[in-house]
Amino acid sequence: MAYTVTRPCTLLPSGMQFGKCLQARDMAYCPYSRFPVGAAVLTADGTIITGCNVENASYGLTVCAERTAVQRAVAEGHRHFRAIAVTCDIKDRFVGPCGACRQVLMEFASDWTVYLTKPDGSYKETSLSELLPLAFTPGHLTQH
Ligand SMILES: [Zn+2]
Repeated sequence: MAYTVTRPCTLLPSGMQFGKCLQARDMAYCPYSRFPVGAAVLTADGTIITGCNVENASYGLTVCAERTAVQRAVAEGHRHFRAIAVTCDIKDRFVGPCGACRQVLMEFASDWTVYLTKPDGSYKETSLSELLPLAFTPGHLTQH
């Protein structure tokens, strides 16, 4: 179940380092939206891999921070994940991954812990299954 921690934090539960998420956000390439986003995935072996949004003049080619992080992690040999943290510049509310990113996360598991964080490190902890209920998963392709 989702819960919210309103005090600033540098270390999120399960060893997720919030600072890495902020560093990734600061690397965002977002000249069109001016909406920088950072993400950090925590792999099963404790590695943290980050991503930022990378926009393109052909807007549809833009890739979100969450997908950048997952794709980097997979390219580095990771297939099992425990958590993802996402942050942006919005200070007064928590912002979740877009629908496309939720589906990409679901490819690897339904039990991700998801930290929606504000720039000060306060966060809402939720789960992927809560963010994407009744999801289409790889298991559906093997069950027909
Ligand atoms: Zn997205």
